[in-house]
Amino acid sequence: MEIIDSHVHIYPEFLKKEREKIAAREPWFDMLTSSRFHKWGTSRELIEAMDASGIGRSFATTFAFRDTALCREMNDHLFEAAKNCGGRIVPLAVVSPASPDAVREAERAFDLGAAGIGELFPDGQGFALDDARTLRALCEVCRERGKFIMFHTAEQAGHSYAGKGTSGAREAAAFCRDFPLVRVVFAHFGGGLWAFSAMPEMKLLAANAYFDTAAWPWLYEPRVMDAVFAAGAGERILFGSDWPLLKFERYKEHIERTGLSSAEKAALLAGNAEKLLALCG
Ligand SMILES: [Zn+2]
Repeated sequence: MEIIDSHVHIYPEFLKKEREKIAAREPWFDMLTSSRFHKWGTSRELIEAMDASGIGRSFATTFAFRDTALCREMNDHLFEAAKNCGGRIVPLAVVSPASPDAVREAERAFDLGAAGIGELFPDGQGFALDDARTLRALCEVCRERGKFIMFHTAEQAGHSYAGKGTSGAREAAAFCRDFPLVRVVFAHFGGGLWAFSAMPEMKLLAANAYFDTAAWPWLYEPRVMDAVFAAGAGERILFGSDWPLLKFERYKEHIERTGLSSAEKAALLAGNAEKLLALCG
């Protein structure tokens, strides 16, 4: 089985070198990259890590800046990296939704082969998941082109951490209500939105939503995954590591401690992501 990691970040070398200069005008970048948990990773290092862990393909994003010119630079770097990696890097482009240039950049990225948009940071980029007016034009392009959009979300309970942000299940549900025809991935378990799959009305409302497992070992016990399947969200959960922050091995240990059947593990580690990609082809 080819494992698909649906949430990794790669960074061009210049981001590290010019960190101070960029951080001075991008507060979210400043906060995340000065956190003691932050790690840099290049596309070459990603491929090495994928080889070491037996990962076939990764959905890779970069860093979602507020500034559109920086987003464009990130996307150019990402497409170059993807081109050199023989299909193993599935590119997710970044755009700044509050900028009037977001739609144009999304279209350019789709023309260049982006499978989707993400990981966008509502707090860092100055927009809200429940602000349909700001998101409408961008979501319309995603819908027309059949591409998915991925947002950072986090459970609005529990400990605080750098980059956690204020978008959780409530805001993610509002997005699903406003844009039912746009396929969406909510990172970090969607801030708990998956749990509402056990409510028939919410299962319908969030039928376009997927959730990824990024940061699972830091957030939840292994058995949360049994709950995801029991709640009826097992077809919507995507394995995502958030590499370079966390390695696959940490997830592997967690997965081994769940009660998932081998078919459920296969859905989590590959099948669900493959289906999503096929829908977005
Ligand atoms: Zn991430």
